[in-house]
Amino acid sequence: MSESAKTNHPGSSDHPEVIHRRAIAIDLHADTTQRMLDEQVDLSQRLRDGHLDTVRAKEGGLDAQFFSIWVEPQLYGVGGEKAMKRADEQIAAVRQLAEKHPELWELATSAADVRRIAGEGKLAALLGLEGGYAIDERLENVERYYKLGVRYMSPAWTVSTSWAGSSGDAAGQTRGLTDFGKQVIREMNRLGMMVDVSHLSDKAFWDIVATSTRPVIATHSACRAIANVPRNLDDEMIRALAKTGGVICVIFYPPFLEPGWSAMKDKVDNDIAGLVQRASEAEKGDISQKKLARDRVRREEFLKRLPPVSVARVVDHIDHVVKLVGIDHVGIGSDFDGIQATVSDLSSVAELPNLTRELLKRGYSAGDVEKILGGNILRVMEEVAQK
Ligand SMILES: [Zn+2]
Repeated sequence: MSESAKTNHPGSSDHPEVIHRRAIAIDLHADTTQRMLDEQVDLSQRLRDGHLDTVRAKEGGLDAQFFSIWVEPQLYGVGGEKAMKRADEQIAAVRQLAEKHPELWELATSAADVRRIAGEGKLAALLGLEGGYAIDERLENVERYYKLGVRYMSPAWTVSTSWAGSSGDAAGQTRGLTDFGKQVIREMNRLGMMVDVSHLSDKAFWDIVATSTRPVIATHSACRAIANVPRNLDDEMIRALAKTGGVICVIFYPPFLEPGWSAMKDKVDNDIAGLVQRASEAEKGDISQKKLARDRVRREEFLKRLPPVSVARVVDHIDHVVKLVGIDHVGIGSDFDGIQATVSDLSSVAELPNLTRELLKRGYSAGDVEKILGGNILRVMEEVAQK
C-alpha cells in the first residue's frame, strides 16, 4: 500500500477500507495482456471498458497483478514458432508497460520485489504462462521463460498438450502427465517456477501433485462442491493441493461460482450463436479483432439474459476452502479481461474492497484478510524460490 493511501483514510485501524489498503493484494490471473497487444490499450489511463487498468487498480487497492501470457492454441497452435512468438510479444507488452510508466508499474519476479514495490506505492507486474504451448515441447524452454520473468505456468489451457491433459477436451479424459510432462514439473521445481493446475484434467492434477516437490497452486478456479464444473476442484483435490503447501486462488467468474449458471450460459451461447457469428463476419480486422467482436456481443447478451451473482458467492467458495483446509491455502485469481461475465459487485478491479467488506462481515479477521488477499501467495512464492 502507499503512504498516501494511509493518510487518505484516517478512521480506526479496523475500518474495512483501512484493512483492505494495508493488505498486499495480489491477483494471480488477468488476461489484460492481450488487450495491451491486440487493442493497444494504454493501461496507464482509465479505460472505458474491460476490467483492469492502473487507475482502477489503484482505486481497488490492488498491489500486484500476474499478467497471463496466454497463447490461444486455436489461433497460434499448440507449439511451434507462432506460439512462441505470441508468448514473447505478450511478455514484451508487460515489460513495456513497466518501462513506459516506471512511476506506476514495476516488473516483479519475487515476493521481495512485490513487498518492496507495494511499499513504494506502485503496482507490481508479474508474468504467468497459461497453457504450456509456448515451451514447444522442449525442456530447455522452461528456463527460457523463467529467464524472461515468468513465475508460474499451467501445463495446458482448454486444449491438452502432448504431455499434459486439459479439463477442456476429450484427450484430457484419459491424459495425465507423460514422462516428459513430469520432467517439465521437475524443471519448474528446480528453477523456482510455480506449477498452476487451473484448466488441467483431473488425471493431470493428480500426476502434478504426486510429482511436484514444491507447493502447487490453482491460479483461477473454484470449488466443485458448490459449482460442479470441470474447471473447479473437488474437496479431495483441495485437500491434496493444500498438503503440498499450495494455494487455491478463487476466480471471479459466475459460471464457476453459481450452481447452474454454467448451463444457463451455455443455453444463451446457443441462442445467440447467429448474432455472434454475424458480429464476427462484420468485423473486417484480423483474427484477434474478430474474436474481440464476438466477445463484445457475448458480454452484452450475458448481462441482459443471465441472473446477477454477487461477491457473497465468491466468499462462499473462499469459506469452503477455509473450512476444508484452513486459512493458509486460499487466494484470489480474478480472470479479469478473460471473462465475458463478471460478478455484479466485483465487476472490475476497482470493486475489490467489496470482497474485503464481505469477508469481514462473515467474521474473518484483518489477519485472515491479509492472507487471503496476498499473504498466502507471497509465502508460496518464497517457498518455491528457495534453492
Ligand atoms: Zn484461464
